[in-house]
Amino acid sequence: MSSLPVLVLNSGSSSIKFSAYEAGAGEREKLFEGAVDGIGTDLGKFWMKDAAGRKLLDQTRSLPNRAVAFKLVADALHSSSFPSPAAIGHRMVSGGPTVLENQLITPDLIDEMERYTAFAPLHTPIAVYIMREALRLFPDVPNFVCLDSYFHRTMPEVVSHMPIPEEYSAMGVRRFGAHGISYESIVYQLQSNVPERLIVAHLGNGASISAIRGGWCLDTSMGLTPTGGLISGTRTGDIDPGVLLFILHKIAATTTNATEAADALETVVSKRSGLLGVSGLSNDMRDLREAIAAGNAKARLAVDKFVWTIRKWIGGLVAELGGVDMLVFTGGIGENDIDSRAEICAGLGALGIELDRERNNVRGAATISAEGSRVTVRVIPPAEDLMIVNHVVRLMGK
Ligand code: ADP
Repeated sequence: MSSLPVLVLNSGSSSIKFSAYEAGAGEREKLFEGAVDGIGTDLGKFWMKDAAGRKLLDQTRSLPNRAVAFKLVADALHSSSFPSPAAIGHRMVSGGPTVLENQLITPDLIDEMERYTAFAPLHTPIAVYIMREALRLFPDVPNFVCLDSYFHRTMPEVVSHMPIPEEYSAMGVRRFGAHGISYESIVYQLQSNVPERLIVAHLGNGASISAIRGGWCLDTSMGLTPTGGLISGTRTGDIDPGVLLFILHKIAATTTNATEAADALETVVSKRSGLLGVSGLSNDMRDLREAIAAGNAKARLAVDKFVWTIRKWIGGLVAELGGVDMLVFTGGIGENDIDSRAEICAGLGALGIELDRERNNVRGAATISAEGSRVTVRVIPPAEDLMIVNHVVRLMGK
């Protein structure tokens, strides 16, 4: 195969990340990466770096909406000296129950995935917008969708099925999981060292944890949407459904419009809860650590709850896997927050998990378990874009 420039577009609720790789037979060479961040604000950031990390662009811009944000990206790509893409890969959290495979994007496919916006309400609107724009702006370039839910397709039915009436299951309501491309990229990076029983904790602004047996997903903490599972920066994670009803009744006292009420509930559970809700301060772990150091009790409680749910999930996943051989931390917190890793692993000696204090004192890739620890504990940054490039190359070859 000759070399193929592949562009990767990865959008979050308020950001668009992009990168380009030159993909040869077994080779993947990064050409550049960049992002627009802070969509919906006057102080958005727009940057681009080459493969050597040299800044090509670094601007503060008003980014009132995603259209302005994506136009900046498209203009920069069109005017850059880099080769124009031969293919584009898009990250998508969930394509709903009917779009489960990574594949070529057509206008019909985008419509189909958009029908299930409720399955990833913070992510789908911007992702489908960017897909439509990419088809319009790069009409001769094949675009491919890479789904987070793809990695979780191997979860057994007992794990993915929801305990709800059949009529809702028939509408596609079940556990799909998220962060799948990150998990896939950890398995990919471990290559032949993938252990039989692996637990990976992806701890970023959104947080989740998965049990992986022999390289295949067995269970994951997120559910129908990324709001389920672990406590995240601004999301509740799993919560007594009675709490949702309580809040909904409170909201219903202020509006008779059911859609408005549903949107208000969505805002509470997805944008105002989690670390932000409990601390009343911030969803950012760095801010919380600073506040804890200054004696802030609510910040302490928020982080304690975060750690507590992760520990409970680790216990549950070990039970499911029948033991564990390796625990991997990834994501912004997993890679950088030394204290979170120490607090999560404290007292898990009975499960064979023992950290080495000195080794844990790092940011970035490392083995951090103690010499005699039965379980190897590692920090591995995710390589989601690389994984998307791999899928695109495979799909181009079909
Ligand atoms: P996203 O889910 O948006 O991709 P990231 O994976 O970038 O999020 O993770 C963001 C989280 O990582 C934030 O809570 C941030 O505070 C945390 N983080 C990043 N760097 C550090 C650091 N040096 N120490 C502690 N936490 C960090």
